[in-house]
Formats: sequence, C-alpha cells, structure tokens
Amino acid sequence: MKKPKVVVLGAGYGGIMTTIHLQKQLGVNEAEITLINKNDYHYETTWLHEVSAGTLHHDRARVSVTDLINKNKVTFMKNTVTDINIEQKKVILKNNQEIEYDYLVIALGYESETFGIKGLKEHAFSISNINTARQIREHLDYTFATYNNLEERPEGMMTIIVGGAGFTGIEFVAEIANRVPKLCKEFDIPRDTVRIICVEAAPTALPGFDPQLIEYAVTQLERKGVEFKIGTMIKECTPEGIIVSKDDQTEEIKSQTVVWAAGVRGSHIIEKTGIENNRCRVKVGPDLRAPGAEGVFIVGDCSLVINDETDKPYPPTAQVAMQQGPVAAKNITTLIKGGTDLQTFKPDLKGTVCSLGHDDAIGVVFGRKLFGTSASAMKKVVDNRALFLEGGPGLLLKKGKFNFF
Ligand code: FAD
Ligand code: NAD
Repeated sequence: MKKPKVVVLGAGYGGIMTTIHLQKQLGVNEAEITLINKNDYHYETTWLHEVSAGTLHHDRARVSVTDLINKNKVTFMKNTVTDINIEQKKVILKNNQEIEYDYLVIALGYESETFGIKGLKEHAFSISNINTARQIREHLDYTFATYNNLEERPEGMMTIIVGGAGFTGIEFVAEIANRVPKLCKEFDIPRDTVRIICVEAAPTALPGFDPQLIEYAVTQLERKGVEFKIGTMIKECTPEGIIVSKDDQTEEIKSQTVVWAAGVRGSHIIEKTGIENNRCRVKVGPDLRAPGAEGVFIVGDCSLVINDETDKPYPPTAQVAMQQGPVAAKNITTLIKGGTDLQTFKPDLKGTVCSLGHDDAIGVVFGRKLFGTSASAMKKVVDNRALFLEGGPGLLLKKGKFNFF
C-alpha cells in the first residue's frame, strides 16, 4: 500500500514540535514525513530581540534542524516555499520543485505587519528572523563605529527609534538600553549623545497588561535613558526618520535607526493558498484543520484560535505554537491509522513574562505577578523549557541560559 505523505512547512516552534511528535508516533512503514524549511537551522524567535540588539550572539539562538529530528524517519529539505496548491495537494518550492502531500502542516510563522504605513518597508528594520536581527546589530555597530570618523554628522544619527511598545518593542528597547552604554564606551561616544525613543500609539505601553507591572517596566526603562512617546502614532518613515502624530499635531523625529516592532501577521503564503484568512491567519477548526482545504492543518502564527471565554483570538505566541504541534501530530496520526476521533486544541496558558534585559523582567505566571530578578529568572526558565522540549537535555545544556541572578 502507498504510504501517506506528511509534509511540514517551517521548522519554527510549531513545525519542529509537530515533526518531533510525528516521528515518535509514526513508524517508517506508516508514513513518509518531510520537513521543509528556508534555512538548515531552527532559531529561537523569542530570543531575536537579544540578537538584534547585539546582547546575544546569533549562534546561541539557532540550532541545526537535523540535530532536532530523527533523520531515519524524517526527510529534511532546505528550501523556500513559494506557493501551495490546495486543489492538487502540492507544495511549490523556490526551484519550482513540487512536493505532493496527503497531509500538510503549515507552520510558516509571522511576518512584520506595516499596516501600509508609508516608507516602513523601505527604511525601517524589523525583528523577523535571524538575518534581519543580524542586520540590526550590524547597523548599530557600524553607526557607533562611524560616529567619530565624521566631521559633520547627519541629524538623528545617534537616535534609535523603536516603533511599538508591545512585548517585542519593550523587550528590544530594554536590550538596547543595556547595550548602548557599552557601545558608547567602546567607541568613545558620550552617553548623552545617544537617544533611545519608544513610540506607542495606544494610551499605554504594553496595552492590556497589568498596570502595576507596566509602570514598573516604564520606570525601569526610563531610568536607563529610554524616552517613551505614548499615545503617539507613527505615520510615515523616511530616509531621515519618522513622522508621528499625537492629538492632531505632527512631528518629525530624525533618526538613522528605526526598528519597527509594532505588529505581526501570518506568512504571505497563506494569502496565496486562497484559504479564508485575516491578515494571513486562518481560523482553524478545534482539531487545527484549515476550513475547505483537505488534509491541511495550520499551527503557530499562521493560525487563529478563538478563546471561548473572551471570544477574542489568542495572541500569536510561541507558547501556543508549541502546544499546537503535538495536537496536529496526534490528529494526523489518528487519521493515518484510520481513526476519526480527533483531539481538540485547548491552550494551557501558564502566563506571560516580558524581559527587561538579562537582569530584569515583569510577568504574570500562574496568576501571580512577578518583577525584577524573580521574573528574570522565570523568563530564563521559560526559554530553557522551550529548548528542552525541542531538543531534550542535550540542547538545553548546549544553548540554555543559566546565569539566573
Ligand atoms: P516561527 O517560530 O516564526 O517559525 C517559522 C519558521 O518557518 C521559521 O523557521 C522560518 O524560517 C520558516 N519559514 C518562513 N517562511 C518560509 C518559507 N516561505 N519557506 C520555508 N520556510 C519558511 N512568544 C511567547 O510565547 N513568549 C515569548 O517570550 C515570546 N517572545 C518573543 C520575542 C520576540 C522578539 C518576537 C519577535 C516574538 C516573540 N514571541 C513570544 C512570539 C513567538 O516568537 C511566535 O509566536 C512564534 O515564533 C510563532 O511560532 P511559529 O512556529 O508559528 O513561527
Ligand atoms: P503587538 O501587536 O502585540 O504590539 C504592537 C504594538 O505596536 C501595540 O502596542 C500597538 O498599539 C503598537 N502600534 C501599532 N501601530 C503603531 C503605530 N503606527 N505607531 C506606534 N505604535 C503602534 O506586537 P508584538 O509586540 O510584535 O507581539 C507579537 C506577538 O508576539 C504577540 O502575540 C505577543 O504577545 C508575542 N510576544 C510575546 C512576548 C513575551 O511573551 N515575552 C515577547 C514578544 C512578543
């Protein structure tokens, strides 16, 4: 009998967890499992703010895909997905190669959402993957290294702007606040030459989070020299900086370093499939299947799961993606083995911890508020747990964060 072909797209949190669970549950005679990923490495997306700021080397945040999977059971293909033909059940790759599937798991992650704001795509950086993170770090280093070589410096040369004070914006600006004094020292630049500005459209940083913890975070970051512009919307990005508006007043802030961290959408490949979506996120069924696409499961940031209690979608997080992977794998295994009783995905959210640099954080874990060193230690526990789930004790020992205090 022909073995069913299971194809997983993306080796991020959702894709890796799906693959690891598929390889445990299906024997080589039961299915052909293929994992396709743009790079030959998996990266810890949740560590990219550190890589971007230059406080963590990019090699610490990535691991070879083949170190995480069982090569006897899974075929790994390093390639870029360019399209998916849902009717013909085929994935199309960059070299026009076509891969047939019986079951498909789309786990292609997120892309930066610029909401059509003029100039952002052209002039702003984004924290999207290892390479965009490396580009930000290199740009920062180059800017600092250039400063003392110029007779005349462009206005805003040493102004770093972070767009958005959501979790990504806050975690990144915190790393920047820690790194800037070191860069100033290294390149003989007075600290007061450098401005770090975080611009947030909502009436508060970290909208929707605990007010006491927000106040703690903002105070701590202001102490480290971060300027917050709250209730201020970025309207345009130009080669010279950004244009913002607040209370119908517009202002130009000159800057050579604008990092847009103000929103995400799913992969653009989703739009190409024709599956109904909202900003490239598909409202999946309780078993994680995509509506109207036979054999297709979607996990991670390309999926949208509604929280029945609030009637709102769960935010796209690694926590959710990592829990979806095993459910998608279980359901595919059930179908392959002729079963019909599919598992329902119900996230078991343990809390949220937001890093404020290597030594500080805020969080709500199991309903308890944490800040300072205890929150920071908890953040490392969360990061280490992800490594353990992906690659067991070996990966944890190799890449883990053990400088707790
Ligand atoms: P990803 O982890 O982004 O993986 C997608 C994979 O698909 C990548 O390997 C990519 O290379 C590959 N890929 C993409 N396009 C293609 C293509 N066309 N062809 C082939 N391969 C492709 N969430 C939390 O729960 N806790 C946190 O602390 C946290 N911190 C974060 C910090 C930062 C700085 C950021 C940016 C996000 C953070 N998040 C956090 C959110 C979390 O990272 C995402 O929700 C999570 O990464 C989504 O997992 P995923 O598997 O859908 O996608
Ligand atoms: P987000 O959508 O959560 O936050 C974006 C922020 O940018 C919002 O506060 C929004 O008001 C602001 N914004 C939007 N347009 C703007 C504009 N024009 N000008 C100024 N501000 C603007 O996006 P994110 O922070 O990238 O987070 C993406 C997902 O990743 C979320 O689900 C988040 O929970 C998750 N995440 C989690 C952690 C963590 O748990 N530690 C860390 C990072 C990201």
